[in-house]
Amino acid sequence: MSWIRCYCGYKIHDSSDHLSYKGRIMSDQDYFDYLDSVSSIIGSECPDRKKLVDNFYFRVPDMTKTVYQCSQCGRLYIEEDNKLFCFKPENHTNNGVLKSVHGEKWKGFLYAEWRSEKYEWQEYKGYVCADVNYPCESIYSDDRQEIIDGYYRLLEELKKAGVIRSASLKINGERIHDWTL
Ligand SMILES: [Zn+2]
Repeated sequence: MSWIRCYCGYKIHDSSDHLSYKGRIMSDQDYFDYLDSVSSIIGSECPDRKKLVDNFYFRVPDMTKTVYQCSQCGRLYIEEDNKLFCFKPENHTNNGVLKSVHGEKWKGFLYAEWRSEKYEWQEYKGYVCADVNYPCESIYSDDRQEIIDGYYRLLEELKKAGVIRSASLKINGERIHDWTL
């Protein structure tokens, strides 16, 4: 599903990873099978451990259901058998129930890119976007230096706040800076 139109009119996008308003739920009826699978991999003497882990990764989505929350009205949408079931909040305005259990301290990502020729769909030649649960503004600009400076400034700020795990800066498709915690 690439996006959902909420009953309130808001568009819920599902176009990237690590979304703060998307989650996965698992039935308690499956939870212990899940834990058993993990412990059987840990305890396995199979020499091809990588294959076991790959198989497990492949099976995990089948053990969960996807859930989205509307950031505007807080409605929850649970996906089951390609259908969406909507649940409306009662007496609260918590629109962030699907955020990481680490809340604002969840370590996210910083992406920045600038291209001398912008793509058709792009409004600006460059952007600096932080995928974090921490208040900071994205930067959009045609100016190459503004993007570069903005990237390093934001990287330092996010590092100091302890809310980032990796960052990358690309200029004309070439990765000119990479940082990982
Ligand atoms: Zn809504």
